[in-house]
Amino acid sequence: MTDPDCIFCKIVADQIPSQRVRETERVLAFRDINPKAPTHVLVIPKDHHADVAALARRDPNLAAEVLTVAADVADDDGVTETGWRMLANSGRNAGQEVDHVHVHVFGGKPLGPMLSG
Ligand code: 5GP
Ligand code: ZN
Repeated sequence: MTDPDCIFCKIVADQIPSQRVRETERVLAFRDINPKAPTHVLVIPKDHHADVAALARRDPNLAAEVLTVAADVADDDGVTETGWRMLANSGRNAGQEVDHVHVHVFGGKPLGPMLSG
């Protein structure tokens, strides 16, 4: 599944460049273009799913693989010991900007409270 108008599908296809940090057959991890922490990586399934709920319901094995790759990214960046945060925005109130499910991996500094407001 690919959406021709989706920027993350274009990143998967290498039509938009990205700084890839990990890849499996079905999952890609790349650095966020506007990092909010020393480690800020996006982990996505290569297949297009709109959000984490769609992914988990349609392909739970792939959802699990996204989490495993997120943990591997934390290991690679050396933040497993100091701690890291995983975040998946879904929909308007959460501020989801890209409608291709992505898990943010943050680390490398104290990450503050869970919610800003
Ligand atoms: P959201 O707000 O949907 O949870 O997160 C979208 C994230 O994608 C943002 O943190 C934004 O900086 C990142 N982003 C948007 N466009 C690009 C891009 O073209 N390349 C990369 N590497 N990150 C992007
Ligand atoms: Zn997509």
